[in-house]
Amino acid sequence: MSWITIVWSMNAAACLTLAAIYLLVWCKQRQDPAHLLFSVTAVAAAAIAAFELEMMHAETVGQYEALMRWIHVPVWVLVISFVSFVRLYLHAGRRWLAWSICGLRTLVLILNFVFTPNLNFRHITSLRHFSWGGGEIISVPVGVANPWGLLSSVSLLLLLIFFVDATITVWRRGDQRRALVVGGSMIFGAILAWHVPLVIWGIIDIPLFLCFAYSGIVAAMAYELSYDLLHAAQLSRRLQESEVDLRETQERMELAASAAKLGMWMWDIARNEIWLADKGRALFGFAPSEKLDLDRFRSAVHPEDRELVFQAVQNSLRTGAEYEAEYRVLLPDGQLRWIAGRGRVEFNSNGQPARMRGASVDITKRKQAEELAARQRNEMAHLSRVTMLGELSGSIAHELNLPLSAILCNAQAAQRILANGKVDHTELREILNEVISEDKRACEVIRRLRLWLKKGEVQQHSLRINNVVQDVLRLLRSDLIHQKVIVDCELARNLPGIIGDPVQLQQVLVNLVVNACDAITNRTIPERRLLIRTGIQNRNGSSAVTVSVTDRGGSIPEEKMEQIFEPFFTTKPKGMGLGLSVCRTIIAAHRGKLWATNNADCGATFHFSLPIAAPDKGAPIIDTNHLTNMQCCSHGAVRHRGGVAPNGVKAPRGSGYDVTKD
Ligand code: ADP
Repeated sequence: MSWITIVWSMNAAACLTLAAIYLLVWCKQRQDPAHLLFSVTAVAAAAIAAFELEMMHAETVGQYEALMRWIHVPVWVLVISFVSFVRLYLHAGRRWLAWSICGLRTLVLILNFVFTPNLNFRHITSLRHFSWGGGEIISVPVGVANPWGLLSSVSLLLLLIFFVDATITVWRRGDQRRALVVGGSMIFGAILAWHVPLVIWGIIDIPLFLCFAYSGIVAAMAYELSYDLLHAAQLSRRLQESEVDLRETQERMELAASAAKLGMWMWDIARNEIWLADKGRALFGFAPSEKLDLDRFRSAVHPEDRELVFQAVQNSLRTGAEYEAEYRVLLPDGQLRWIAGRGRVEFNSNGQPARMRGASVDITKRKQAEELAARQRNEMAHLSRVTMLGELSGSIAHELNLPLSAILCNAQAAQRILANGKVDHTELREILNEVISEDKRACEVIRRLRLWLKKGEVQQHSLRINNVVQDVLRLLRSDLIHQKVIVDCELARNLPGIIGDPVQLQQVLVNLVVNACDAITNRTIPERRLLIRTGIQNRNGSSAVTVSVTDRGGSIPEEKMEQIFEPFFTTKPKGMGLGLSVCRTIIAAHRGKLWATNNADCGATFHFSLPIAAPDKGAPIIDTNHLTNMQCCSHGAVRHRGGVAPNGVKAPRGSGYDVTKD
């Protein structure tokens, strides 16, 4: 067998092998037509090789003419496949050019079967036989070329232009490798194919080797497709690896979530569907397969907390801020569980909230611990109040004695009037009025004491700090008189409200005033006075109401400035050292601060600040000051300096009164 037969056969075999491989690939991945297209192309290329070999071995003119006519069929298939491949796979080449080539090539095929013997020759006169390149004897046609054969050359020219144009497009798109391999081989093949008209016109005397021009293109296409297959295989391997990683990460996350008792959730807002991990379902008492939406979630939340949770959700949806809420859920068995929820909203391209993702955690234990701590703090505060009352009992007795003596005097006066027999009704009415008002005064003292000693839950009220100051001064009035202490008050006007427990805040102030009195009575100073100030403080963009108690006693050593707030720290012979530490816990529970400073000249000042209540938060402001005016008119030691503006600027002195005298 000569090399010509071997080479052409090998070419055909290679093309058929490639065709078979890519047909199999297409069978596996039917969604990609490129593989099928390539398979057809490769079969056509193999057929061309077979036809060419047969033509070379043709012994008669008739044989050659028939072969030349039928070779147009695989050539047509090949050209259409090339054009389709460029359009579908490379996404390049002008559409009109593609249609022109396909149309022209089809016309060539039809005309080929119209003309006899074929489109290329009017007639073949003879076959020339010679040995080519030292190989076997081959046949080459000798005849008159058909001018209609020019159509075939035009289609070849258009194909060349189409390939060049497509290659430039692919190159410009940045895909140089593909442009070089596929585009380059196509251009080269289309140029090589020009030997066919030259042979037909008798310009050159060689056998047709179109199969090599086209099988080069087929090889380039195969390389490109295999590159993509390889790439796809790599991607799929990486995907598998990522999936394994993802599964591992998910498992780790689930482990961490389960360790932290976290329930991950996702709310699809448009569909109103909630996805909740199994852990989360257990937290809320939802069944594993239960369909969840916002209404189902709402029904699980404790009725008292629903408003709070949904306000937090609404706020997050409106502003994009992080969602954060602590609430109780009612479990199917009637138990209550505390949940802390956190989440974030994700917006779609139109800026509308699309979904919310987050996690919920069981904080029941923390809440129970907090409740226990609050209970203990209240117990402690109550104990401290009882102790304080013990210290004040003398003055309280005095406070009660006054109205009781007045009642007694008035009753005796009434008896005398009645004994005289001359009843003056007007005088008697006045005496009775006096008795009633003194009785009310005694009742007020008892009411305040009962309130003071009341043990119970911390009340959260909206209140005015100035009222708290006035209540405290009323409570301490007798004691202040007894100790001959003058209290100057600078109460800022129009202070915003705060949220808190009035009795506990009174307790803090009583403690500070009693300590201040202790500090000044320990010193031999001519005038015992202390100053209570209220105002407003702006720091780091947030405002707080402040109260300060300034005395002119001894100062606190700098190193003890913090120590005095520790439990059981005292410098007093009969002190317990609990007052300031209790005060600090009370103020901290009100989200405020309590601290002390030394005055520039002498004495110390104790300050505390409390956050301002949000305007729409809390209950309506209660007036803890049940008495309309400061009742220091007959006995007292309070000098009211008139109001100051909240910023601390003193207003002109009001009609302050000195009531230091009995
Ligand atoms: P106690 O009054 O029973 O000692 P406190 O906790 O109220 O307990 O006070 C702790 C200590 O802080 C006091 O013993 C005193 O040394 C110091 N202290 C409190 N208030 C003042 C003050 N106004 N001036 C100076 N020292 C004070």
